Amino acid sequence: MHGKTDEAMCWITFGFAWGLFEGVFGKEVVGEEKKCVAKGDEKCVFEFRIVE
Ligand SMILES: [Zn+2]
Repeated sequence: MHGKTDEAMCWITFGFAWGLFEGVFGKEVVGEEKKCVAKGDEKCVFEFRIVE
């Protein structure tokens, strides 16, 4: 059971990246985690898009 640490880390990174995107664009942003180490993927992949 090594997934727990990865999952916690990934949500910290995700939240940080989300805040960063909102700061950069100055708009509301929606984020989605496409891949996650906690789900068995080799790395976490985040996708963000701007809410118009
Ligand atoms: Zn993840």
